[in-house]
Amino acid sequence: MKMSLPKQILLALLAGITVGLVCTLTGTEAFTAAYLKPFGDIFVNLLKFIVVPVVLFSMIDGILSMDNMKKVGAVGWKTLVFFLCTTAIACVIGLSVATAFNSLGLFPDLSGEIGSATYEAKEFGGFMATLVDMFPTNMWKSFSEANMLQVIVIALFFGGSIMAAGEKGRLCRDIVSSFYAVIEQLMSFIIRLAPIGVFTYMSWVVATQGAEILGHLALVLLCAYIGYFIHALAVYSFSAKCFAGISPAAFFKGTSAAIIFAFTSASSAATLPVSKKCADSMGADSDISSFVLPLGTTINMDGTAIYQCVATVFLASCAGMELTLGQMVLVVLTATLASVGTAGVSGAGMIMLAMTLEAVGIPVSYIGLIVAVDRLFDMGRTCLNVTGDIACTLCVNRWERTKQK
Ligand code: ASP
Repeated sequence: MKMSLPKQILLALLAGITVGLVCTLTGTEAFTAAYLKPFGDIFVNLLKFIVVPVVLFSMIDGILSMDNMKKVGAVGWKTLVFFLCTTAIACVIGLSVATAFNSLGLFPDLSGEIGSATYEAKEFGGFMATLVDMFPTNMWKSFSEANMLQVIVIALFFGGSIMAAGEKGRLCRDIVSSFYAVIEQLMSFIIRLAPIGVFTYMSWVVATQGAEILGHLALVLLCAYIGYFIHALAVYSFSAKCFAGISPAAFFKGTSAAIIFAFTSASSAATLPVSKKCADSMGADSDISSFVLPLGTTINMDGTAIYQCVATVFLASCAGMELTLGQMVLVVLTATLASVGTAGVSGAGMIMLAMTLEAVGIPVSYIGLIVAVDRLFDMGRTCLNVTGDIACTLCVNRWERTKQK
């Protein structure tokens, strides 16, 4: 009998904690660092290796899918504006809650113990310098240095140009969608290796940090869930009530089936049919929900944005870094774009987290600290992602109907 991935991850988590504790008790912590952690490093290396192609192709693919949006005109632009505004608000909520946790001293500084020698904080040179630096002079250099802001700019230019080239750009368009399909396969393969990463990193982290790390992980999870709840209650209740004329209670009751399905599957793409049913049963027209929901599943990820912000502040603290205001603005920008580029499948947000960390100069290997509990973050963030898509569908639906009257 084949065990499902969530069960394998849970088992790996428990096994990792047990082995870590046994090593602490028997004084054999060095064993985990010498023989287990390297396998976790391989997993993190794979995450790093995939991030540039994922960002590049998913962003170009996303832009090309907006070509359809031009066709659907007003609906498309309203959808896009709703998605971007709510995602930016999600980032601000995520950063605020995480900063509050951090200033209360709830996030640890582990830089002394974990590879601080390999850590090199990037200087934040100010907004104008960052702006200039976003435009690459050599795209291969951007890829090889994994300069994520430059990779995004490259994707925007290529996506726009392929669209502008029209029929002549057809081949490029097909190549992008074919590459993206291959990369999605590769990504799902890497995600399937997560239990190995979870087991080896967890045993190493518990052996070297002691059981307190479990408390820290529980706190960062709590922090993300507080962000998820605030966003759902404030932003979605507000927009459902003010723009779609649906009371918050009716809205959450109507979306509950999709929320439960998202929580268990951790995939907004897999939840799509349920989301459509929910939106339609709350009065959305089928042609609107058939357009807004699939687009939302591809580019609208408020839960992922909150997770990215919380994880970035937590990992910055672990790395002994204090994020400046400028870096926080950069986090909002990259987390918003990263959530656009995140595929609606489980674990994708963790891969895109690498991009946000790179952007502010936090070593990507720190992801190893939270990889073990990523599934728990993921279940919550996916709920928020699908709720956001349904809220947007209902609002756009109402705006379109009012216009027709
Ligand atoms: N699992 C999320 C979703 O499907 C994406 C993510 O990993 O953040 O919406």
